[in-house]
Amino acid sequence: MLPRGFKADAERRAIALRAEMGLGPTDALPPKDLAAHLNVGFRIADELVPREALESLDRLQPGCFSACTLRGPDNGPVIVVNPLNSQGRQLSDAMHELSHILLRHETRKLERIAGLVFLTCDAAQEEQADALGSTLLLPRPLLVAAHARGMSATAIASAYEVSEQLARWRLNATGVTIQIRRRGTTG
Ligand SMILES: [Zn+2]
Repeated sequence: MLPRGFKADAERRAIALRAEMGLGPTDALPPKDLAAHLNVGFRIADELVPREALESLDRLQPGCFSACTLRGPDNGPVIVVNPLNSQGRQLSDAMHELSHILLRHETRKLERIAGLVFLTCDAAQEEQADALGSTLLLPRPLLVAAHARGMSATAIASAYEVSEQLARWRLNATGVTIQIRRRGTTG
């Protein structure tokens, strides 16, 4: 369960962060740009470890590494994204990690996988990071505008480089699909 008011706050943050970055409420928000805005490092994992290491890790435990936040040399956070995943997954994973930082989630646990130290969080924090991350990628005004232009979940997914599953989930979660359908039937 998300805390009361969390979803509305996430929508406000999605708009406020865009405004700080000179973007409109319906503009895409690339995680890489948001990271730069927040002074967070952003790296693709194969810049740090050989790609073969990532591939053998994935063979060992498929899908186990999506993205993580490490401490950089200056102790600042650095987001590391797995390049083996789809573009959509990489975007949502990066936004999930940035959400943990925005929500000031304290790191609970250190895990060491393939010689790298990973910071993991508890279940409530994971749910919050998923909710904020997906809202940052697809805030309600963006979905309303896209839907008004006749864009389907598939079209939204390809235009904003997110997964179709995420586009559908956000369309349903925000009630945008239902609202448009109602508007259609009542003229
Ligand atoms: Zn997380």
